[in-house]
Amino acid sequence: MLRELSRRDLIRLSSLAAGVSFVRCATSSFPIPIGRRSPVIVDRSRVIRTVVGLRPYRPSGFVLEAEPLGDKLLVHNYGHGGCGVTLSWGTAQLAVEHALQRSNRQAAVIGCGAVGLATARLLQDHGFYVTIYAKALPPDTTSNMAGALWLPVTLVDRNRRTPRFDQQLEQATRFAWRYFQTLVGERYGVHWVETDCIEDRNDPELPHEVERIADLVPFNPLEPNPYPTRFARRLHTMLIEPPTYLRAVLEDFRLTGGNVVVREFADRASLSQLDEPIIVNCTGLGAHDLVGDAELQPIKGQLTVLLPQPEIDYATVGPGDLYMFSRRDGVILGGTHERGVWSLDVNAAEAERVFQGHRQLFGALRR
Ligand SMILES: Cc1cc2nc3c(=O)[nH]c(=O)nc-3n(C[C@H](O)[C@H](O)[C@H](O)COP(=O)(O)OP(=O)(O)OC[C@H]3O[C@@H](n4cnc5c(N)ncnc54)[C@H](O)[C@@H]3O)c2cc1C
Repeated sequence: MLRELSRRDLIRLSSLAAGVSFVRCATSSFPIPIGRRSPVIVDRSRVIRTVVGLRPYRPSGFVLEAEPLGDKLLVHNYGHGGCGVTLSWGTAQLAVEHALQRSNRQAAVIGCGAVGLATARLLQDHGFYVTIYAKALPPDTTSNMAGALWLPVTLVDRNRRTPRFDQQLEQATRFAWRYFQTLVGERYGVHWVETDCIEDRNDPELPHEVERIADLVPFNPLEPNPYPTRFARRLHTMLIEPPTYLRAVLEDFRLTGGNVVVREFADRASLSQLDEPIIVNCTGLGAHDLVGDAELQPIKGQLTVLLPQPEIDYATVGPGDLYMFSRRDGVILGGTHERGVWSLDVNAAEAERVFQGHRQLFGALRR
């Protein structure tokens, strides 16, 4: 995800699409003494896969609203860009509030990625009988391709934000932050992780999407700095392991009586054929065709995955676009964001840039 995280990467995005900028972050001057950081072994022999995914990005941010569909209610919950896992429980809660306006308690959720699953589970928790309809199920969703660090970024162009959107974003973010904390542990593959933000400029800023929730993710300087950069800071957030997490939430959904139907919908008319009077559209990038949302566009991202290294108990973001997340299923090396690219083919040049960048970074780690 992370341009998702990387300040410099976001700067590059802003030059492509005006509107991304940064805010001062909540920074404590209290330095955190750092122990040893074991280096990631960035060697070709350790590469186990390269994966590609398309982030569902809308310059004006996610869509969270309801519209009538004949006598049914169609609630939209899509377009989460580079932070759909992060925001999933939060926008799900907002979608549930729309559904609760109707007295009927039967709902269809279209989509079985992180957003659809969270929405389906929260509807169940509010007494709904829910069927998930989806073209593809985990592990074949974009959500399975995510990094996935908890941080709301690469979501909206700064100059397209509105007061209403900001309010929805803050509500969703705070709700998701608290909800994910209830899932920390082995079963869901959610863990707290020290995240080192590595940079050459001592310029503590966060992506603008974090503006109103900066209190949740304060930075502390890392001293001494073990990285070959002028500065390093640390924040604490959660790392979500998509294969474990999505499987567990889908299992919870089934155990709570939910049905899953594999089915693709072409348009609004095909949705209106469903029996359920409430339909929640959680189709991610699929909404481009399903409801004709031309603003929705992909930001292609790819991850090079190395053999797991259990001793790596931290994450890094930077320098530049780069990021590294150490998960049970592998060490994730990322940092690519190709806007408007619909291809799922691996970009070899970008893969090489990310690989060499991390090789250099961990090769120069001070120990
Ligand atoms: C490389 C990369 C790294 C990322 N890192 C992070 C990260 O660190 N943190 C983070 O929070 N996010 C990250 N993301 C972003 C995250 O993956 C997305 O925001 C998220 O997956 C969107 O979830 P979703 O449920 O909306 O969509 P999806 O996971 O795409 O699910 C959509 C569902 O809808 C179904 N569907 C679509 N169209 C139709 C149709 N017409 N009919 C029926 N079903 C349909 C699909 O089959 C699928 O089941 C990353 C993404 C990439 C590519």
